[in-house]
Amino acid sequence: MNDDENLRTERPTFVTHLECSYTGERFEADRIHGLSSAGKPLLVCYDLAGVRKALSKEQLAQRPPDIWRYRELLPVRRVQDIVSLGEALTPLVRLPNLARKLGGAEIIVKDEGRLPTGSFKARGLVMAVSMAKALGITHMAMPTNGNAGAALAAYASHAEIKSTVFCPEDTPEVNVSEIELQGATVYRVNGLIDDCGKIVGEGKAKVGWFDASTLKEPYRIEGKKTMGLELAEQLGWDVPDAIFYPTGGGTGLIGMWKAFAELEAIGFIGKKRPRMIAVQAEGCAPMVRAFEAGEEHAPRFENAHTIASGIRVPAAVGDFLILRAVRESGGYAVAVSDDAITQAVEEVARGEGLLLCPEGGATYAAYKQGLKDGRVKPTDRVMLFNCATGLKYPLPPVTRTIDRTKPIDFNQFAR
Ligand SMILES: *Cc1c(COP(=O)(O)O)cnc(C)c1O
Repeated sequence: MNDDENLRTERPTFVTHLECSYTGERFEADRIHGLSSAGKPLLVCYDLAGVRKALSKEQLAQRPPDIWRYRELLPVRRVQDIVSLGEALTPLVRLPNLARKLGGAEIIVKDEGRLPTGSFKARGLVMAVSMAKALGITHMAMPTNGNAGAALAAYASHAEIKSTVFCPEDTPEVNVSEIELQGATVYRVNGLIDDCGKIVGEGKAKVGWFDASTLKEPYRIEGKKTMGLELAEQLGWDVPDAIFYPTGGGTGLIGMWKAFAELEAIGFIGKKRPRMIAVQAEGCAPMVRAFEAGEEHAPRFENAHTIASGIRVPAAVGDFLILRAVRESGGYAVAVSDDAITQAVEEVARGEGLLLCPEGGATYAAYKQGLKDGRVKPTDRVMLFNCATGLKYPLPPVTRTIDRTKPIDFNQFAR
């Protein structure tokens, strides 16, 4: 069967079962699952020996440039269940001007702002909604700081699934509007994202909706995993020395760590792993606290606040998975201030013409800090994650004007 036929027909799938990430308890595939019986995230397991036999790098290279090229390592079994809005591969953008200025070797931004709904939440939600469709789910709900809700709304509408979304009351206007416009029913809640999460949890029994919260269903990780598959392929089946990842619920960091293990198991990469660096904001840094204290779990970070709303997550159900990946990789967790974030966004926008979201800015600020304190070497090839388009966020006002009815001083333009 050639690739084209394989896309259109029922394809062999390699999912064997699901596994509790904490206890290792096994769960059957093709059933609706939330958390494990221990209340921890479930991980999807594959027959990797089978994938190894079925897939070669050469075959993969022939496929269309979207995330479905990695289908052997994805959970969706039937092509007709894929709810696609065009999940293109995202580019690696180099920052040569800033690398020269800082004396760094190579700064690469994985620019996730190009995905449907303008953020990498699309990767996770396209997988969660496709699986929801496959499993016959008709109503999905989630708490969100904005981007996840937008992606859920878009994909749920595309799949004709009902969606209900709860955001903290100070969620940026543009996010609340895009969620509603893309077909969800959205509510502002006077609390933080975990307060919204409690409402979703309670509604499971009372309304009967499916809880699509970060890591409370098994497939968003599989979607976010494609970031790791993709970046390795884009680097010619290599990995960078360090990955700076703005960490909220940690789905992407956990997903990429899983991706690298799977790629090694199928013989596509070797033993080398990037150091995983979890970047948080000083106003909401539960992982940094737990990392520095040597803890396995991270208690709720009280009075969480930061302009980087995507990483304003005071408590994460996958905390131990984030901390485990960071430690196993020889990485670390670090917090940057909101001022440093704002300055970083400005520096990259002016210096390279790339408009990062605040969370993406945080990774650049953390990289600079790492160079300064020696935790990153100037010779390291680093990858920063820009998780959303900068255009979704409030931008600084501009006040400069020209009065065309008066004489114009053209010298000013030359300065
Ligand atoms: C959700 C989000 C994050 C955090 O991603 P996780 O994988 O959940 O940790 C970072 N930045 C932006 C823009 C986001 O929307």
